[in-house]
Amino acid sequence: MIKDNVELICNIGELSDLFREKSDVRGFLQKVVKTVSGHMKADVCSIYLYDEYLDRLILEATEGLNPELIGKLILTPGEGLVGTSMKELRSILEKNGQEHPQFKAIPGSGEEKYQAFLAVPILRGLTRIGVLVLQHQQPGFFNKNDMMAFKAIASQLAATLENAKLLMGVSKKPEAPRKVESVSLIKGQAVVGGIGIGNAYVVESGKKDGFYSGLPQSCIDASEEDFAQALSQTEEQLQLLQAEMEEKLSDVGSLIFSTHLLMLRDSSFVGKMEEDIRSGVSPCDAIITRVEYFLKIFSESDNPRLQEKVQDIRDLGHRLLRNLAGESQDSGDYSGQILVARELLPSELVKITAQHVEGLVLYSQGASAHITILAKSLGVPLVYTDDKRLFSLYTGTLLILDGLQGNLLINPNEESLQQFSKLKEDRALARESEDQVCSETYTLDRERIHLRATVNLISDIKTAVRMKAEGIGLYRSEFPFLIRNSFPSEEEQYLVYKKIFDGMDHPVITLRALDIGGDKILSYVPGSEEENPFLGLRAIRFLLENKKVFVGQLKAMIRAGQGRDFRIMFPLISSLDDFRQARRMVEKSIEFLKRDGFDCDTVPDLGVMIELPSAVMMAEDLAREADFISVGSNDLVQYLLGVDRTNEKVSGLYDPRHPAVLRTLARIASAAEQENCALSICGNMTFNREMIYFLVGLGVRNFSMPPVQIPEMQKFLNSVNVKAAEKDSRCLLEMNSLEDIHSYLEAAVSKQTEK
Ligand code: PEP
Ligand code: MG
Repeated sequence: MIKDNVELICNIGELSDLFREKSDVRGFLQKVVKTVSGHMKADVCSIYLYDEYLDRLILEATEGLNPELIGKLILTPGEGLVGTSMKELRSILEKNGQEHPQFKAIPGSGEEKYQAFLAVPILRGLTRIGVLVLQHQQPGFFNKNDMMAFKAIASQLAATLENAKLLMGVSKKPEAPRKVESVSLIKGQAVVGGIGIGNAYVVESGKKDGFYSGLPQSCIDASEEDFAQALSQTEEQLQLLQAEMEEKLSDVGSLIFSTHLLMLRDSSFVGKMEEDIRSGVSPCDAIITRVEYFLKIFSESDNPRLQEKVQDIRDLGHRLLRNLAGESQDSGDYSGQILVARELLPSELVKITAQHVEGLVLYSQGASAHITILAKSLGVPLVYTDDKRLFSLYTGTLLILDGLQGNLLINPNEESLQQFSKLKEDRALARESEDQVCSETYTLDRERIHLRATVNLISDIKTAVRMKAEGIGLYRSEFPFLIRNSFPSEEEQYLVYKKIFDGMDHPVITLRALDIGGDKILSYVPGSEEENPFLGLRAIRFLLENKKVFVGQLKAMIRAGQGRDFRIMFPLISSLDDFRQARRMVEKSIEFLKRDGFDCDTVPDLGVMIELPSAVMMAEDLAREADFISVGSNDLVQYLLGVDRTNEKVSGLYDPRHPAVLRTLARIASAAEQENCALSICGNMTFNREMIYFLVGLGVRNFSMPPVQIPEMQKFLNSVNVKAAEKDSRCLLEMNSLEDIHSYLEAAVSKQTEK
């Protein structure tokens, strides 16, 4: 049989022309494999395209192999002969491919009968495009000349195939979600408990990301009238969401959908879509083209504030397309979807929660303490994972997110679905019975303990009241700052703080001054990128460098607290001098307020957060001058042990039971006692039974914790015998090994609960 290689090489130009005429990319690829196999007299010709992001080769066209594998046969570079050709960037010519040690049989492909094998990598400069493969039943059918010709074909086709590859990413064709190869469980870290059941929505900035995938035919066929209808429906939905947010999340929800609403009225966005539609472009294409255009501009912008809008544009495009398809009333939102993302901004988290997302899976390296805190307050199940296979998931894949165990089940079977749906319902019922909590907490031997609420969002106050929290031990004031695009004005802050006082009538309301820096970066503050942000211009250091911001916040807090007992505390204090400067700022703020005609009869108590080893060493002096001290245990453990609290890789080393932590806590407790200064503890340690037991043994009586933890901690404390706790704490302070402390604490705590 004579192969007409030369003629084939000449025909490549013809194929490229054909590509320009055809809108169906897969059809074009199929034409290529058919033509090439015909000219080369091959039994099989296949094209695998390389997805650099997933780092996978995907079979996109084949003549001769089972066509059902198209889009489903996925190989890693290095896997089988095709993968090896890509990984090592070399052609592979084998008389009998199946005898090669790297050959990998693909069940169901039908390739068992083909022996001769020829693969060439397709490259554009250094860019990997994919692999072109020929197979034939007759061993040794291909020779070196064929290989040379095939290489020439691959290089001529490279540019066209690259275009095809790009278009595949934005194909509007509805497509069944592709299954991830063998992954059925991804393990991660449980961050926010709860169960989510839904379809994956995989977001990758600047990547094909499912924005277009799974569009129903009704969307593709929509008319100009449908577009107008979708537009007004989208605007209505967004107005409604905005109003809901103002009501429910007044501190962080204000104007949160403003970008969406502005874009909807923008002539360069919707105006241009309308223009395109009038000139004959389909509404679906007009939306996609415009959204793509803005995604590109925003994601490539040097301005981080524009980059932050990428998800807004994507959301809006998504919503417009769903409405165009005439889907259900809440179409366009995230109901029934689990968001899979590399990272997320706080404002994005608030928006997707408002749009009813089922759960979140985030890549650990994009993890941050404030996203965790915010997700907890918003009650969205969240799992972090550093498993890269997360990004081989496709939008639409059915998932179960188990935020209790930190597991992600992919394409679960019916049995798992039933089991987790039941668990989800049971948890909802259990939450209703949580209200069986007493307004005062006592230990078994009637020692009084105060359980206060840690509040992140104003909406937490409702829960705090329901859980009968004894005041607020920590209000983290940074979220209204993190969500907005610029510093909130004094008036805006005043309204937020006023809501706190209105929401909880209790003498202990503790507002913390702004703690930004570290992993809480305000994109609108120039130069906020730092090499070592946790050791940089964070918290009180930032405030003392930015006195206008500091005074603005203090004035708003003091105005809101008039007529009430309240407290202000300063984060990350490292010296007496820091505290004195902060106190001076409070005095100045009062002076300014009085000068502006405000009555300032109520002066807050001022407190120091002990979070740094330097503050521990100064604990007696700080306790002498401050009205109260509060241990920020999350940071104290981080700075004392030198372990980044957000870094999953060292999370095993982040252990509050470390003997150094126990001894540090003992030192702080005795400084507070010696100076007769009120002491409280906040941070995650407060809802860890072993740690709260140890702390009670040290004499600590005030704890601030997320309100949802109060019932469980109250129940535990009810079983604690203080005398026993004191004795155990003394023993623990004598110990110098983590292992010994672990087993001692475990035994001591179970002894308390057994009784
Ligand atoms: C802490 O460090 O324990 C604390 C409560 O502050 P944050 O977690 O907000 O840093
Ligand atoms: Mg802290």
